[in-house]
Amino acid sequence: MSITKKMGRRGIIKTCEICGEEFHPKHGNQKYCGEGCIREAKTRTMRKLRKTYGIHNKKKWLGTGGLGSTPYHDFKREMIAIQKEKVRCGLSK
Ligand SMILES: [Zn+2]
Repeated sequence: MSITKKMGRRGIIKTCEICGEEFHPKHGNQKYCGEGCIREAKTRTMRKLRKTYGIHNKKKWLGTGGLGSTPYHDFKREMIAIQKEKVRCGLSK
């Protein structure tokens, strides 16, 4: 689903990526209409990550280099993957 961006009378109207409702974003990069949809978006991202790394998780994932072999093209996802790896390796502290 793509974000539709158009100008309304009260400014920019965006379409929520989760529920498809139109809303006026408070921030320029707001993608979702409200708390509920933000949470849903996060849940979906986590589910996707878990699916991607699910097979590796059964084996010893820590230290086997979950990063690098299949880097995401999406920088944001790559960031999340790196952060997850850092937590797994105990580097976040
Ligand atoms: Zn929504």
